[in-house]
Order: sequence, then C-alpha cells, then structure tokens
Amino acid sequence: MPYDRQQGGKSGHIDLVKNPDVDAFLKNCKYMREPSDEEGKSIAMSYLDVPSIGCLPEKIIASDASTYSKAISDRFPSTQVGYVKVSLVLVDLKEFNSLTEPGSRYVDPFKVAKMHRNANSIAFTLPGSNIRFKDEKTVKDGFRRAIFEQFSSDQTNLTKNGQYSLTDTLLAIHEGSVEIKKCPSCGLKWNHDLIFNKDYLIQECEHCRTNIYITDDLRIHEQVTDYGDCGAAITRFMNVVEHLLVAGVVRMLADDNPRALSNMGFVLDGPLAIFGQPADIHKRLMSMYHSVSEKLLSLNLQPPLVLGLQKDGQVMEHARSLVPFFDEFCRTGGIKKSFYRAVDDCYRGKYISEVSSANFGHETYYGQDFIYRTDSGRIFVVGIPYPFKDKSNITDFAIKKADPQNFGGLLARAFDLIRYFELDLYSNAIVPVALAHRHASISLVPGGKVLDIMTRAGLS
Ligand SMILES: [Zn+2]
Repeated sequence: MPYDRQQGGKSGHIDLVKNPDVDAFLKNCKYMREPSDEEGKSIAMSYLDVPSIGCLPEKIIASDASTYSKAISDRFPSTQVGYVKVSLVLVDLKEFNSLTEPGSRYVDPFKVAKMHRNANSIAFTLPGSNIRFKDEKTVKDGFRRAIFEQFSSDQTNLTKNGQYSLTDTLLAIHEGSVEIKKCPSCGLKWNHDLIFNKDYLIQECEHCRTNIYITDDLRIHEQVTDYGDCGAAITRFMNVVEHLLVAGVVRMLADDNPRALSNMGFVLDGPLAIFGQPADIHKRLMSMYHSVSEKLLSLNLQPPLVLGLQKDGQVMEHARSLVPFFDEFCRTGGIKKSFYRAVDDCYRGKYISEVSSANFGHETYYGQDFIYRTDSGRIFVVGIPYPFKDKSNITDFAIKKADPQNFGGLLARAFDLIRYFELDLYSNAIVPVALAHRHASISLVPGGKVLDIMTRAGLS
C-alpha cells in the first residue's frame, strides 16, 4: 500500500500480469475469466424470458451508505475517528411520473435533484484507532459502548413513541431475547449465559464488572484493537446498520400499516447478505422477511418488494463479460430481448467463483442473486430474499433457493421496477439508488432522523 502522497512506484509502469514470475504463479491458480465463444453462446441460451406483470410499488425506499475514517489531527495520524452515513431516499411513483415527459424516458436531472428533499441521512460517529470513548478501559470497550448508544439513539427511531430504534429491531428479529455466552471485554465464560431483553439491554460481567450491551451480540468490536486500524469494524457496522434500518422500516409498517407496506419497494445497495462477525443475523433477517410476507398474504395483500442491487463485485463482473454474447444472441434471431437467470450454485461454481459448501452463502446470504438484462441492454444483478423461513435441509435448500417458481410474483415485480427506473444518465443504476448514492456521500451536513422521512411520506 503506498504511503500518503506517494506516487506509484516502479511497478506502476509495467503490466504486472506480464511479469514471468507472476505469469508462472497464475498458471497455478483458478480465477474468473472471459467465457469462450462457445461457453458465452450456451450461457446466453440458458437465460429465461423475463416475466412482467406491469405492477409497480407506489413508493420506493432506497438506501446507500458510506464510511470514512480520518485522523483528528495531521500531527497524530494514527488517532482516528470513524464516520458512517446511511442515506434513505423515498421516491413516490406519482411524483416521479411528473418528472418525465409523457412518452419519453428522459428524466430531467434538475427535477430529479428536487426529489432530494425526500431523502435523509443518518450519521453515526464511532471511535477509530487510538480513541477511548467516554473513558472506557480500552478502545474496544469504547467501541462497544458507542455501537450500543448509536443503535439506541433517537435518530434511528422510526416512530414518535420510540419502539423502533435499531436496538428494538435487533431484539425483534431475535424474537425478544438475545443470549451472549462470554464477556466481550475480559473474554471469560460465564456460569450462565446472559439473556438480554427489552428490560435488560445492558448487564455487567461477573468477572471484570464491565458493561455488556445487547449489541455486543453482533461481535463487530472483535475487529477492534488498541493499536490497529478500525476500518474493517466500521465497514461491518455500516453493512449491519443499512440492513437493519431497512428491516426496521419493513417491520414497523408490517405492524402499523400493512396495506401501505404491500405497495412499497425497498432497494438496498449490494447483495442481501451480512458478512464477517455479525453474519449470524442474516438468518434472522431472512426469517423476518418471510414472516412479514406470510402476514401480508394472510391479509390478502401482496408482500413488499425487497431488492439488493449490486453495483460491482464478482457476479456483476461476470454479467458484464456476457454483454457481447447477449447482444449477439439478440442480433442473430433470438426472439428474447430481455432475459434473466438465477445464479444457482452450479452456475456460480462453473463461471463465477468456487462454491465450497453444499449451499453457497450458507453463513451470510439471505437473498438469491439473479442476473437480469433489460430490453435496453443494461445488466443488473439483483438479490431477492429467499422465500423460506430457514435453510434447514441444506442440499434441498440449495436447489429450492434458485428455482424462480418459488418466488411467485416477486421476480416479475422486481424486474418491472428496475426496467421502469433504469436510468439513462448512469449505466446499471436505477433512479432511487442514484439519489440515495448521491445523498450518502460524506458532507458537512449533520445527520438527520429516519422519523423525518417517514413522517413526510405519511408513514409514521
Ligand atoms: Zn468480563
């Protein structure tokens, strides 16, 4: 890694891959490559016709997030503060329609900018390396405390009566009780697991007397040390917060306004997955989305549409490498102009990356990836929550999760939404996400509250 302000070294002038040592090394490696002509053709042929039911959500909430770590002074570069900004943008379909000229796909960027008033960002400040928050014994203890305080803060609350903070959502997806087995500060096991619930959000370690927080269950602090960089922990925090905030909105509306929820779409940035130490909550999110769907179906309402759109990553790179084959396929008499396929484990293993377990993403993913090519030739990688309560019977699950039949009308609705909002201005972006993305960049504006956006949209 170059030092600050350091120019590219000698290696910057040559193509490293052409270096004979590197070339010899790569001969011993497996990695993703362009499909051959034959493979490309057969992959393109394996894609399916895109279903459409012409039904769009009335409101779409898109989220995006960014992180930042900065030395608090140039003279002490290793003393850093971390900052996470999560932005939610609400797009009302009626309002959006008024921005486009009838019969045209062109969206006036100046008018789009006006939609920013329906955006809000929530900012979280965390201790980075070398900063002890509120006089805690260690950087790590301070980090744990900061996470708990940020999760419980009013800014993440979705309603005025305050039952929908991130801490509440964390507790709710655990069905009201969270168990922790050992102390995150001294590392010792307890005789009895500590049980956290709404009345006991903070408890004390019987060995070291340090406060233990319900949010320690996420284990984000495990990547924090007194001397190292906290960047990895801050990224994990961002990932978890973004997924929990959206889950919180879905949960609140499922309780209070299921009818409004059934006409909404939610678009998250990236795959529907939680990585690293907090990964365990992915299965709780999966189960929560499943039970919300069941609840709405029992009320004769359609389930909300929840999507994860990937801007980059391996699946996206693979999908982009298919563009010439898709184009060729359309030119040479393929009747299909718009097509998709589920990235099942077999396909992933063959063309994208090794699938080392009986079920790809078993410890991390709560949604299935699909590759989708729109009529206009744009490529999207979209994740949709697995339509199951859990992943029991792993080999059976690995097959069921990629069967489009199991997603009911959700696939058609997801593709309709993407097609409708695909943006001429940016490739592979859709309007709500582009708005959220612009809003999530770090600026000097302080963070707001989720409640504000919910109230403006008449949802809280
Ligand atoms: Zn302890």
